[in-house]
This record gives sequence, C-alpha cells and structure tokens, in this order.
Amino acid sequence: MAISETLARQKAAFLADLPVDQDIRIDRLNRAISLLLDHRQDFITALEQDYGQRTEEITLFADIVPSLQALKYARNNLAKWMKKDRRSPTFPLGLLGSRAWVDHRPKGVVGIISPWNFPLGMIFSPLSGALAAGNRVMIKPSEHVPATSELTRKLIAEYFDPDEVAVFTGGIEVAEEFIRQPFDHLFYTGSGTVGRIIMRAAAENLVPVTLELGGKSPTVILPDCDIDSAAKRIVAAKMANAGQICVAPDYVFVPRDKLPALRTALLKKAEEFYPEQEGAPAYTAVINARQRDRLKGYVADAKTKGALVETPDAFSRDRNDNILPFHVISNVSDDMTLMQDEIFGPLLPLMPYDSIDEIIEYINVRPRPLALYLLGKDPAGDQIRQKTIAGGVAYDEFLLHVGQEDLPFGGTGASGMGHYHGHDGFKTFSHSMSVFKRGPIDILGLLQARPPFGPRFRAYIKQELKK
Ligand code: NAD
Repeated sequence: MAISETLARQKAAFLADLPVDQDIRIDRLNRAISLLLDHRQDFITALEQDYGQRTEEITLFADIVPSLQALKYARNNLAKWMKKDRRSPTFPLGLLGSRAWVDHRPKGVVGIISPWNFPLGMIFSPLSGALAAGNRVMIKPSEHVPATSELTRKLIAEYFDPDEVAVFTGGIEVAEEFIRQPFDHLFYTGSGTVGRIIMRAAAENLVPVTLELGGKSPTVILPDCDIDSAAKRIVAAKMANAGQICVAPDYVFVPRDKLPALRTALLKKAEEFYPEQEGAPAYTAVINARQRDRLKGYVADAKTKGALVETPDAFSRDRNDNILPFHVISNVSDDMTLMQDEIFGPLLPLMPYDSIDEIIEYINVRPRPLALYLLGKDPAGDQIRQKTIAGGVAYDEFLLHVGQEDLPFGGTGASGMGHYHGHDGFKTFSHSMSVFKRGPIDILGLLQARPPFGPRFRAYIKQELKK
C-alpha cells in the first residue's frame, strides 16, 4: 500500500479508536515484545548477514535487550503515565470550584526513520513510547541493513494490522516520499546532514520533529584516574559495534604525562579483548565499503598531517575487507578530518591536556556533543560537567546512561533536539492537552469582567498591576 494511503487509513483508524484505552496500548506493546522474543534468532542472523560480521552479544545486548526493556518499562508504567496531571487554577478560581488538569492525548500517527547502526533499538525504543502514548506508527528503516529491515517489515506485518503499525523499506526515494507526509510527529535518528533535510521537509506541514543525531563525544581521563582501568573501559566501549555507536567515545583527553602509558594500555587491552585465536569473541565489521573507505581516509589524512597511528599486533591484518582494527592516534591537530567529523568507527584520537580550563574551552567552542564521559573521582569532573553542555553525561562508565529508562535521552544543538526513553518518550509522543473546568460560580460575572466592566473589575486590575 502506498505511503500516503496508509497514512490516511491510520489517521482514520486512530480517530475511530479515541481515546485509545490502556488495554489497547498494552496489547500493542505486548505484541512488539512477542515479535522480538519469538524472532530474536532471526534478527541475530539478519544482522550478521547485513554486517558481514556482527557478534551475537552486540545484537542481544545493544539491540534486542534495550528494545525489550523499553517496551516492558512502558507497559509496566503506563497506568501511572496515563493519569491526568492535576494543576492549580489561578487564585482564587480553585476556591470557587474551578478545576484544571492536563490530559495526555496521543498525537495521532507518528513517523519513525531509523539508521543502520542499531537497526532494532532505534525502531523499537521510539516505538515503545509512541505506542504507549496511544499513537499509530509508520516506520522507514535504513536501506543499509536490507536483511534486517526486510525482516522487520515482514514481522511487523504479521504482528500488527497495517492500520496500527506499518513499515516501508527502500532507499532514498522512499525516504524522500516518507518525510513529505503530514505526520502528527516525525522521529528521526541519524546524521545531522540528513536531519536538516528532515526538518526542512517537516516544516512544510508543520510536523513536530525529534532529531536524534550524533557528534563528537569527548572523554576526559581526570588526573586521579588509573590508566589501566580507564583503558579497559575505553576500549570495550570504542570497539563495541566497531565504534559505530552515536554515543561512542570519539576522542580522549588525557593528562599530558600519562599519554604514553595510555597508548600502551589501550593497545594491550584491544589485543586482550579480541585475540586472534580459536573461540575468541568475534569483532564487528564496519557496515559497508563506503564507511570503511571514509574511516581509512581519516587515517591516511591524519598520517600525512603528522599523526602517530598505532594498531594492536593481533589486528594488524584484515580478516574481512570491512574489518578495521582499533587505531590509537596521537599527535593529532585540528586540521585533520578525524578531528572535525564524527568518527563513528574504531579510531581513537588522544589529546594531551595541561589544565582543566583548556578542556572546557575546547568543548565549548565546538558543536554540543551527544555524550560527555568523565573518568575518575577528581572534583574537576564536576567542574567540566557544569561548565559545558552535552546531551548527557556519564561518570566512570560508557554508554550506560543511555540504558536508563528513567532518564531522558537526547542531544542538544548539533547533537539533536527533543528527548525520549521511558516517561520522557511517552511525553514526546503525547499532546499535553490543558483542560479547565469552571465551577458553579460565574466568576467573570462576579468580577464585572464583561462589558460594560464595573468597579470590581477595575479594582481587580489595579490589584494585579502591583509589583
Ligand atoms: P542512515 O544512512 O541509515 O540514515 C538514517 C535514515 O535516514 C535512513 O532510514 C535513511 O533512509 C534516511 N535518509 C537518508 N537520506 C535521506 C534523505 N535525503 N531524506 C530522508 N531520509 C533520508 O544512517 P546514518 O545517518 O549513517 O546514521 C549514523 C548517524 O546516526 C551517526 O551520526 C550517529 O551518531 C547517528 N545516530 C544517532 C543516534 C541517537 O540516538 N542520537 C543513534 C544512532 C545513530
């Protein structure tokens, strides 16, 4: 069915369904949970096929489990979230029997556009919020993971009526048609370049947007932090999904005198985590040749501009064309492309620092990052957090702040706009409809606040015009 036709049908079905009872919403969340549980092995296989090599651990830990957590959290908290919020009427209306509250109404039909790096998480997590809020949903998955996107389309069609949730696969032509539709909300995860295109198209129909973008997320090793323990955490986070994570540590600030020790510790950890031996955990490939060549281009550019590039011995030869080893890159400078673009791959530039102010200034003159990581207990960490603005901050561990369903997730400035996860997702996909109910007393009559306006009205205005 055509995109515009599905939208028209979903809009009509949505209106017929209002107010969309809690039972209907829970049933939809449960069907999404069943879909993932029944077909988790199919998804692991599809993702392996799309990536050429992707570990089962990553697919389970970063795609399937977070999706299930989001859906279950929404299901388990739904009754609380759906309750109206009582508000105070302006004095003295409450005393005169008036009432005010906020109803959380579904917006209608939500469009979700998702990327290839976590093709399940980036669909099912926003889907959990959209369904919990009582919406119908249309999804455009990424064309760069065709097997996973096709499987998602097929399974959604099995578990949902097309009037409830529908998936449209395909390339740019489909994406371009999709973003021109008059959705009630458009939720996009991907690069900032495409984010701008999405926002422009949405503006034509005054469609509200949430943009979950990326950017360069700094890590700061604070002066008191143990280097081996920092290296362990950094390598695990940076090599997960081969660095293709929106909140991956992009580059690392390290106290100048500890830089040599950090280089050695990082390379050692990378070898330990992914040794070239039978039964070792498999590493993940870069998604395609285009992305691989982009990353290799950064390395070549950095080398010609004087960077020192090191890779662990065990990864010194490629096992698959798109497998890129972990690269530790030092002697970096601003004119290198890898210090300008989001890296989104297993390359890690190291930046020596002499003072905390230097770090704060470096971050503040650049686009706002999606994540900021602070390793160590030194109070300078709090100072950096308070003097900069990032989408989110995590102390002493990577990525885990994103997994907190009770925290909002979203960027700011170049890293995105709007939030989701848990209750914040429910609110993003709901319209806060204000309701005022006047009590039995005709308050405007009492105040003589209708023409011809009496002395009580003038006394009231006089009172309100005081400081
Ligand atoms: P991608 O190329 O798969 O694009 C994302 C989606 O945009 C796809 O569905 C694609 O069809 C669509 N698209 C592409 N061009 C379009 C166009 N001209 N008009 C309309 N739609 C179009 O993914 P990507 O952009 O390479 O994803 C990687 C980026 O996503 C990185 O910057 C990463 O940081 C960011 N990201 C952010 C988050 C987050 O939660 N903030 C999560 C994952 C990825």
